[in-house]
Amino acid sequence: VSKNTGKNKYSIFSEDMNQRQIRRMELEKDLRNAQEQEEFFIVYQPKWDSLHNRLTGMEALLRWKHPQLGIVSPGEFIPIAEETGLIIPMTDWILEKVCEQNKIWQQQADIYIPISVNMSARMFECSAFPERIARILADTGLEPQYLELEITESIAMNGIEGTVEQLQQIQQQGVGISLDDFGTGYSSLGSLDEMPVDIIKIDQVFVRNIDHASKQSIISTIIAIAYNLNMEMVAEGVETVEQIQFLQSKGCFIMQGYYYGKPMTVEQMNQWLEQSADQIPLAE
Ligand code: C2E
Ligand code: MG
Ligand code: MG
Ligand code: MG
Repeated sequence: VSKNTGKNKYSIFSEDMNQRQIRRMELEKDLRNAQEQEEFFIVYQPKWDSLHNRLTGMEALLRWKHPQLGIVSPGEFIPIAEETGLIIPMTDWILEKVCEQNKIWQQQADIYIPISVNMSARMFECSAFPERIARILADTGLEPQYLELEITESIAMNGIEGTVEQLQQIQQQGVGISLDDFGTGYSSLGSLDEMPVDIIKIDQVFVRNIDHASKQSIISTIIAIAYNLNMEMVAEGVETVEQIQFLQSKGCFIMQGYYYGKPMTVEQMNQWLEQSADQIPLAE
């Protein structure tokens, strides 16, 4: 390896870092106006009960339509929103929108299911969060059992002080709490039973690699833990019949993934509900 190559590598690397930093700075600047400019929209992904072959819930996922860049993925802008604190007003807006939309589906389509919203750790910095949830529910007239919060293991286990108390207060209102991306974080299995959690979501890495024997053991174990702790469970990222069959054989029946439905806008979801939802074959 010549000295020259090393130098070139270094300069390419630093240029790349520069481009990324520039994009990040631009995204951060534009993110500050995105809510006001109405550039955010919410997509909904079905959660499917594969045992009874029916819709049992939805997850709300945020999308940002940047005027020049097009759709920016949440993987890119959520971390910026978290660092800047913008995530707090954004999430309040999402919660309100989701509760309103859920009420509309109840009234117009006679669909009564919980819809989940992803939470960032920063929501728990302000101890008034449980009160804000209560106010949003009261304002929209949505019964609490039709709202669910998705938290990560790090929020549940070593979130900032007062997080667990706030989660308990939210749970006591009747709002469901689910543990997202389970198995990828650093949660202590020993205290899982003390956490205010009703539902465990098996992360898609395990589902994706379901043909690996070692991943199969992990999924079986997660399902057994959820079952023994009396928690509900949802498998994320379900794309194939093989995955469904394996999950079912282990006792997990609630599925979320492209096999059943991608995240959809309200209009797309309405169409899906009318045309596709009752044609999904029973997996067996
Ligand atoms: P997540 O909460 O674990 O959401 C699941 C992600 O998996 C979504 O990506 C969804 O589109 C994707 N997905 C669902 N089914 C399949 C499948 O069958 N195959 C594959 N390959 N992917 C599937 P998305 O929408 O890009 O969101 C990524 C992450 O961004 C979310 O992961 C969540 O952590 C975060 N996020 C999204 N919306 C929000 C939000 O409103 N607030 C916060 N705080 N975070 C959000
Ligand atoms: Mg989620
Ligand atoms: Mg997840
Ligand atoms: Mg994830």
